[in-house]
Amino acid sequence: MPSHTETKKGGLAIVGLGPGRREYMTPRALKVIALADYVIGNALYLDPLEPLLTGKTVIRSSMGKEVERAQQAIDLACSHAVAIVSGGDAGVYGMAGIVLEVLEHSGADIEVEVIPGVTAANAAASRVGSPLSGDFAVISLSDLLTPLEVIEQRLDAMFSIGIPVVLYNPKSRGRPHNFSLAIEHARKYLGPETPVAIVRNALRDDEEVIITTLAGVENVENAVDMHTTVIIGGKESRIWRMGEDVKGIITPRGYHHKYVY
Ligand code: SAH
Repeated sequence: MPSHTETKKGGLAIVGLGPGRREYMTPRALKVIALADYVIGNALYLDPLEPLLTGKTVIRSSMGKEVERAQQAIDLACSHAVAIVSGGDAGVYGMAGIVLEVLEHSGADIEVEVIPGVTAANAAASRVGSPLSGDFAVISLSDLLTPLEVIEQRLDAMFSIGIPVVLYNPKSRGRPHNFSLAIEHARKYLGPETPVAIVRNALRDDEEVIITTLAGVENVENAVDMHTTVIIGGKESRIWRMGEDVKGIITPRGYHHKYVY
């Protein structure tokens, strides 16, 4: 798809910024931001981009105003190069879905490009070895847009088939109990030794990583907040050790059934 931003006509780029540090952004994301007239997003994501924003009009918006932000981005994109940014991947609990829905509804004829980013599941997994080597599921514990009973059904379904489950939005002030609820569901199907990784601010300067088990997770529950991604291993997952040191989690893909190593 030819990009609006290269021809300097109007158009909209929906950009995933990755988990935090600049070096984890894609060259494509950097390029469309460099070419944009307007950059729109949450202050949390825009502030670290500051050196890239000189000479651009920056629109900082707050959480909960996503529909207005999408509409504004579309209006501006009719005549300007606009980049609307989300942390991680813009299509994973980010702005891409709502922007495309509003665009479809508005009937505006503008060029649009979705630019992928490293999502929190991949960022967190990379800090604890290889916990997501095969099939896995991603579930958000935020019940702002999805009813809690639906979230619980999804947790049950995924834990019951024994694949690793990555929890986004595990806890916030508004819903402190959803995380313990998710752990209760996991315990119905998985043993106490099942490894659990708690990764806070993955690939950001104040990163924290904890490796524990389903049995021990209560002791470190305070480390879980809205900047955290939690990986609950599946039936095959195990703690990865080097000597005495716990390094992370491995979920074998099954090579050991076929090869000797
Ligand atoms: N679009 C984002 C997800 C937004 S939902 C992405 O693709 O990553 C917000 C949730 O993402 C947070 O509550 C947290 O669970 C997770 N998250 C985002 N960035 C993170 C990071 N650097 N470290 C750990 N978790 C992160």
